[in-house]
Amino acid sequence: MFQALLLTQSDDRATHAAVQPLDEAQLPEGEVRVAVAHSTVNYKDALAITGKSPVVRSFPMVPGIDFAGSVVESADARFKPGDAVLLNGWGVGEVHWGGLAQQARVKADWLVPLPAAFTTHDAMAIGTAGYTAMLCVMALQDRGVTPDAGAVLVTGANGGVGSIAIALLSRLGFEVHASTGRANEAAHLKALGAAEVIDRATLSAPGKPLQKERWAAAVDSVGSHTLANVCASLKYGGTVAACGLAQGMDLPATVAPFILRGVTLAGVDSVYAPQARRVSAWDRLARELPREVLAANTGTIGLADAIGLAPRLLAGQVRGRVVVDVAA
Ligand code: NDP
Repeated sequence: MFQALLLTQSDDRATHAAVQPLDEAQLPEGEVRVAVAHSTVNYKDALAITGKSPVVRSFPMVPGIDFAGSVVESADARFKPGDAVLLNGWGVGEVHWGGLAQQARVKADWLVPLPAAFTTHDAMAIGTAGYTAMLCVMALQDRGVTPDAGAVLVTGANGGVGSIAIALLSRLGFEVHASTGRANEAAHLKALGAAEVIDRATLSAPGKPLQKERWAAAVDSVGSHTLANVCASLKYGGTVAACGLAQGMDLPATVAPFILRGVTLAGVDSVYAPQARRVSAWDRLARELPREVLAANTGTIGLADAIGLAPRLLAGQVRGRVVVDVAA
């Protein structure tokens, strides 16, 4: 038996979350069984736990789109008992039981070897949010964005994606501008590497199709009017890596920035990103993200605490990243 956070749905379609014991025989099919050491609460996990958005496709469901731990048994030659592994996405925690549990059984294809530089706690202090931040940085660099082009804007700055994007970009030599609704966290954002902190209210209302050219590039985890205003404020030839919808899923924009300023809107998906790109993102995180950033940007909670944390995260009240110690 092992402990897991289990989501169930009642007849009125309300989601109920509780930590309870499960039997190993109840685990879904997969070639590799993993003893999970740490998981985390991402934005999508918070949507699943609260039931605020139909993230979970079948009930009962163990949420948790990420985990890190060690292999217990494997029917796949690539993994053997004791191997340290991590997982991000692939529908885990949405359609396949996920990481907010002491055990998981998954497809071997979904696992990434844990980089030697990281503990399981480090890997989850990064989690899907941090791995997505690296995918966004890679998306900008793939399109030729360099520090000499000008400042880079990061929206949702105090969130998981935003905070790690700031740390990564500043260490690559970019001048980072951080957009936040929490001015009281400006010192934390500057410690992460932001050169300037701006009020997100300046970006969140409907704006003009073309605005003053301010940033060479941007990482946006907010969507909606914010993303429209970011596109309208990029310099000629600028690129925005768009990965999130914290403000909204809509994009009330015009084509003006694309056809008049050659702006590129680069979409970033972490869930089904090809394995080679994941491994390269994690290799780069191991080399480029200082460990002290993780310490300063991360809190740790127990499995049952994830239930209370979820609505606070959706309300934008959680700073940085939260690791879940599934044994606690
Ligand atoms: P967090 O909740 O940690 O951070 C989101 C941040 O967005 C908040 O901290 C807040 O920052 C800002 N924010 C919240 N509400 C609003 C609002 N109404 N208007 C403007 N800004 C707001 O989430 P994550 O960083 O983990 O994820 C961010 C987004 O990226 C989510 O939408 C998530 O679903 C998406 N995502 C997508 C992935 C992909 O594969 N494409 C992978 C991972 C995440 P502040 O207080 O500083 O203003």
